[in-house]
Amino acid sequence: MSEVVSIVGAGPAGLTAAIVLAKHGYKARVYEISPDVGHRMKGDFQGLENWSSGENITALLKDIGIDINFLCVPYYGGTIYAPEISPMEIKSDRPIFFLVKRGAVAGSLDAGLKEQALLLGVEILFNSHLGAAEGKVIVGTGPKRADIIAIGITFDTQAKDRAAVVFNDMVAPKGYAYLLVNEGRGTMATVLYRDYRNGEKYFERTLKFFKKNVELNIENEKRFGNYGNFFIRDTQIYHKKIYIGESAGFQDCLWGLGMRYAIVSGYMAAMSIITGSDYDALWKKELKPMLETSLINRYLYEKLGHTGYRYMAKKFAEGDSCGFLKRNYNRSFFKHLLLPLAKRKYERKFIVFSEELNFIKTV
Ligand SMILES: Cc1cc2nc3c(=O)[nH]c(=O)nc-3n(C[C@H](O)[C@H](O)[C@H](O)COP(=O)(O)OP(=O)(O)OC[C@H]3O[C@@H](n4cnc5c(N)ncnc54)[C@H](O)[C@@H]3O)c2cc1C
Repeated sequence: MSEVVSIVGAGPAGLTAAIVLAKHGYKARVYEISPDVGHRMKGDFQGLENWSSGENITALLKDIGIDINFLCVPYYGGTIYAPEISPMEIKSDRPIFFLVKRGAVAGSLDAGLKEQALLLGVEILFNSHLGAAEGKVIVGTGPKRADIIAIGITFDTQAKDRAAVVFNDMVAPKGYAYLLVNEGRGTMATVLYRDYRNGEKYFERTLKFFKKNVELNIENEKRFGNYGNFFIRDTQIYHKKIYIGESAGFQDCLWGLGMRYAIVSGYMAAMSIITGSDYDALWKKELKPMLETSLINRYLYEKLGHTGYRYMAKKFAEGDSCGFLKRNYNRSFFKHLLLPLAKRKYERKFIVFSEELNFIKTV
């Protein structure tokens, strides 16, 4: 009988690992603490970023063995709002991102991955968590601390499909607010990196802002609140358990985009078991340069005020936005000279794995 691999957490990271393992003949057993997949998401839209590599994310998914059996719509442009300037329209020849739905709802990324895993014979144990485990263990339990807070709504609307983002500290301090509309459904949220206690106030400002600037009839609105976590460690193997996705801190430090990291790290964890290769070496080669660049981007972004946001919005709108983002998301020699400064500022995020970290106690 083939070896059983235990996977803790049925998020995109854990389910990707399970799918890849099952395709290679391994028996994957997933322990999910909630009654279904996608429990912490609320049917909201998220963007699967498409700018950090030269090939479309959909091609990457196919390469690693993930089918697109969920809503996955390319967006080639959108509107950027920065303080005291006219809205900037951005566009690109290739999709800037793919809109996906999240949560325990039909058509979501979570539901799609669950279906693929079950069809391959993956065992998913809901309402359960791993006790003492024998054999290989992969941990993909998502965020454990809040570095980023998101407060938003999902709603019905007659507005046309669109994407919009707002850079303005009055609406989202050191973060951003966003609006995504697809086929009569919408998601609007503010993403805060500061002043979390006043989150409701910032969301009210976000709502007011979009109501004033975009023709939106909002119906059946449902509120959601959530959080994200990012950090960079020197190893992601602890007590022989392999950490993936947001439980490994894998998240774009600039804007909190973690789905690509979750899926890619889930794939790498599975491949490290299948091929006997070193997981730390794999993620350090593929993910660490991007993580470090995103930390430098966060360091720089936090130094920007409204003047900087205006400058950035104009740069986005000049030429191809996907190309602009790709240049800024990938490692460059000059930018990396700032890494020691960024590391010093976020020192807490570089500590070596140690017993006292909360998330280790949870599995
Ligand atoms: C509001 C919001 C908007 C976002 N927007 C974007 C976006 O536009 N683009 C983007 O790329 N990313 C976005 N993200 C981030 C992205 O959703 C996450 O980075 C991604 O879901 C991480 O996947 P994961 O599998 O690592 O963790 P999760 O999706 O959190 O899944 C972890 C799973 O583990 C389970 N679990 C937890 N503890 C245990 C335990 N002890 N035992 C068993 N199971 C456990 C949880 O119930 C959960 O199902 C957003 C996040 C939020 C909150």
